[in-house]
Amino acid sequence: VVSARSVRKSFGANEILKGIDLDVNAGEVVCIIGPSGSGKTTLLRCINQLEKIDSGRIRVNSELVGYREKTDGSLVELRYDDLRRQRQKIGMVFQNFNLFPHLSAVDNVAEGPWKIKKEERSRALQAATELLSEVGLAERVNYYPSQLSGGQQQRVAIARALAMKPDVMLFDEPTSALDPELVGEVLTVMRDLASSGMTMVVVTHEMSFARTVADRVVFMADGVIVEQGTPEQVLTHTTQQRTKDFLARVD
Ligand code: ATP
Repeated sequence: VVSARSVRKSFGANEILKGIDLDVNAGEVVCIIGPSGSGKTTLLRCINQLEKIDSGRIRVNSELVGYREKTDGSLVELRYDDLRRQRQKIGMVFQNFNLFPHLSAVDNVAEGPWKIKKEERSRALQAATELLSEVGLAERVNYYPSQLSGGQQQRVAIARALAMKPDVMLFDEPTSALDPELVGEVLTVMRDLASSGMTMVVVTHEMSFARTVADRVVFMADGVIVEQGTPEQVLTHTTQQRTKDFLARVD
């Protein structure tokens, strides 16, 4: 579903991604771990073109993200409409929920299908209500974000991303802004989503989630992928000193 090749990205003189190669297959759950500042968030943001890459190629469903390739191999930037069409297929869940504060939970979830996909409003609302009950919020559909706990807001954000029927879901540290007692409810929703077969890329500091849910764990440090493998290989039997040092600090 996702394929990144030799992806590089700098902010000013600071090279944050130093040649990343990553493949994510259909139905796979890939957890990206690594120290703060290693480029994990930047990589996710590049996958859905919230950041432009400096070089390399990122494909989602074999389609180049953000660009069209001409027959001579050169790239042309996509027009906004085409970019938006691509982004619909890539669900994103942010650390800070990013809900629309002036819309209720159900309107937050229905907004994309209604406004962007031009679905009938009543249908979009119906689907949104169902999605909210799937994430355990049937009783909260008419609440505004400010009336919901962080864990509830994040579950609305997950439902909102799912409403667009994405091919892949990207999660950027979805539980790191939550009080500890609210982390579990969000991880449970993500766990269910993983067992339903959704393709997921999850940047996380939750080692037990990575250990139990990930098909593959990717360890990043200083803008490179140091190693990747099964949770067992990376989290238990790593031979890489950098991974060992990191795990010793977080576990
Ligand atoms: P964390 O776990 O702290 O979120 P991370 O591995 O996700 O870390 P990134 O958020 O990708 O790391 O950030 C990597 C580096 O890029 C950081 O040093 C950050 O300051 C820098 N950076 C990120 N976005 C920008 C930006 N828009 N402009 C300038 N520098 C940026």
